[in-house]
Amino acid sequence: MSNSDLQLIRYQNGELWIDGVAVSTIAATHGTPCFIYAWRQIEQNWQAYDSAFGSQPHLVCYAVKANSNLTILKQLAALGSGFDIVSGGELIRVLQAGGDPTRIVFSGVGKQADEMRAALEAGIRMFNVESVPELELLNLVAGTTGRKAPIALRINPDVDAGTHPYISTGLRENKFGIPIAQAAKVCERLHELPHIELQGLACHIGSQLTELTPFTEAVRQIAGLADELSGAGHAINQLDLGGGLGIRYDHETPPSRAAYVAALCTAAGPGRTILIEPGRSLVGEAGLLVTRVNYLKEGEGRHFAIVDAAMTELMRPALYNAWQRIEPIAQRPDLTTTTYDVVGPVCETGDFLGKGRALAIRPGDILAIRDTGAYGFTMSSNYNSRPRVPEILVRDHQAMLIRRRETVSELMAAELELAGESD
Ligand SMILES: *Cc1c(COP(=O)(O)O)cnc(C)c1O
Repeated sequence: MSNSDLQLIRYQNGELWIDGVAVSTIAATHGTPCFIYAWRQIEQNWQAYDSAFGSQPHLVCYAVKANSNLTILKQLAALGSGFDIVSGGELIRVLQAGGDPTRIVFSGVGKQADEMRAALEAGIRMFNVESVPELELLNLVAGTTGRKAPIALRINPDVDAGTHPYISTGLRENKFGIPIAQAAKVCERLHELPHIELQGLACHIGSQLTELTPFTEAVRQIAGLADELSGAGHAINQLDLGGGLGIRYDHETPPSRAAYVAALCTAAGPGRTILIEPGRSLVGEAGLLVTRVNYLKEGEGRHFAIVDAAMTELMRPALYNAWQRIEPIAQRPDLTTTTYDVVGPVCETGDFLGKGRALAIRPGDILAIRDTGAYGFTMSSNYNSRPRVPEILVRDHQAMLIRRRETVSELMAAELELAGESD
């Protein structure tokens, strides 16, 4: 429905293409493994969110942690996007990419004083504060910089997002947000915190949600609290409703971006600026992880396709038992189909990319792991001393390298010898 209307990534005559470029050509030029992204898909997704708001005052803040490549951030900044950051490092990235500081919101439970200072000096839009101790530290830091810290209180509405427990964030037992029952009391504390300026409320209940109900339930609670606090004299002019809209990895049927925005606006009611923080649903389906089959191995009652990508490039299967589509970039009707566990070279049993996949492949064939534009590269690691892989952006039917392959020397560059033992 909403999520691949235009089919920028599709088969033509048995070959996989991404916005007018054959994936095989990119793989031949840049080697495997590599990530490839379709800019047009990201742009369309962003526009779909932005236009769905109509005349409602709003800001779409891209959740940088989903994919933080500088070129992608630059392109989004040029569209006028806002950004949701969760660290000082992401702040530096967004500023370097030309992001407008007044469109940056800073989320996260563990902000440190130096990160707060940098964000205050940059003049960000607001801090989404998740606890009283954080509020106290922010007040202190803001006092030393001579600026008031604009904030939203991130509220934990105790709503079950119905998603994987590791990506559910809006339940009472999760570490995120201020329990809704404590919100009014926390607001009373604001009188003692002269360097804090309350501007809004925020929530983010989880990721990969495929139903509207948990969103609207959370938003109604946040909006109700906002009215209550406004009644008590607090200025609550912004509601940041977080990210979390799911995408179709398999047979999920998430609501369209337009339906999601409409439901949020209805639940939030009129009169306040609405912010959203989509990550996965902006960039996820725009990406491919391309990998080569190195070996086909016969186990006892199991077939393994050993590929050159691993949990180091795509951690989601190992971390969340996530399922992502795996397809050969050239269909091979001449080969018989076999059921494989697609695994990487890393020395961990958890190092699999997909289990029980029916594939018609031979060693040397190239596979695409679909919908890997979000939480792919940004979660990648150097485990087993594996250099991080290149990223390629396809824009205007042209493939451009936007991050080159790391070298092993770079991996070792920050390591130091023991004093007096250099030779
Ligand atoms: C991770 C995160 C997001 C983005 O979530 P998606 O599921 O990728 O849309 C938005 N806001 C906050 C606070 C987050 O932690």
